[in-house]
Amino acid sequence: MIALSDIEDARRRIAGIVRETPVDQSESLSARAGVPVFLKHEQRQITGAFKLRGAANAVERLSADERARGVAAASTGNHGRALAYAARRAGARAVIAMSCLVPMNKVKAISALGAEARIVGRSQDDAQGEVDRMVAEDGVVSVPPFDHPDVIAGQGTIGLEILEQVPEVQTVLVPLSGGGLIAGIACAIKARQPGVRIVGISMERGAAMAASLDAGRPVEVQELPTFADSLGGGVGLSNRYTFSIVQALVDEVLLITEAEIAAGIRHAYCEEREVVEGAGAVGIAALLAGRIRTAGPVLSLISGRNIDMDLHRRVVAGADGLEDAA
Ligand SMILES: *Cc1c(COP(=O)(O)O)cnc(C)c1O
Repeated sequence: MIALSDIEDARRRIAGIVRETPVDQSESLSARAGVPVFLKHEQRQITGAFKLRGAANAVERLSADERARGVAAASTGNHGRALAYAARRAGARAVIAMSCLVPMNKVKAISALGAEARIVGRSQDDAQGEVDRMVAEDGVVSVPPFDHPDVIAGQGTIGLEILEQVPEVQTVLVPLSGGGLIAGIACAIKARQPGVRIVGISMERGAAMAASLDAGRPVEVQELPTFADSLGGGVGLSNRYTFSIVQALVDEVLLITEAEIAAGIRHAYCEEREVVEGAGAVGIAALLAGRIRTAGPVLSLISGRNIDMDLHRRVVAGADGLEDAA
């Protein structure tokens, strides 16, 4: 578990670096669900996704010596972007390794932030191998996307904000991949208000955490193309933190289809007037699909907005799967 005090410390540490993101009530989603539905707009975080919180907390905790050697990560995009931003702000070198499946808009964004983008292999595991090599041979410090206490504590600052912004909340919907986001939020919220339900949402196509929970231990699943590309990648067979926190604190995990994610992206744009990436839209998607049954106020976290804009246009025009978006 991550202690509430670690999350409170993280909040103070990153206060001047990250934004406290706004919460709005969604009239249309509230009307459909029959309960108040709130959206927390983490897509408006600097770098376009919540991952800056965890990356900034990890970078700010480095010693002067570690800063000089630099940081590295294997990333499907948003973590790499966040780490690049946090490192540049701290005056540290950053190398970001990623697989060739990562969309070009994300690769370009990382280079533009002053980090070195290194494209290796076809999977998250191949990219991680390159990071392990840099750690062993060059003394670089690895800042992983989710399975690290400082990263989890940084993401947990969202949980503190949620309880202040919507104290009456009863259910919180959180996009789920490696589990750093939901683990941090769950540690914060369950410590303060244990009765709040925490629901993780992943896509059907390659939901590694859901498969691992079913198996009772971290397992690998095949990585497949999905609208929710930021939810791709495994939980790591030697997962140390997020798997057991999710197992202990998350009340339910839902899996949703590509067509449901597409509907979530369209709703975010057409009704809420927000550009949201697939991973960020899964909570809205679950609400629209009638998958969330609850008597009390719901908050759905929108986690990011870094979608290729050509793909976004095709989804808004009606594409329901990556095939008809091609
Ligand atoms: C990384 C990411 C997630 C999932 O976070 P985990 O900590 O891996 O569960 C969700 N949405 C977006 C936009 C992301 O970048």
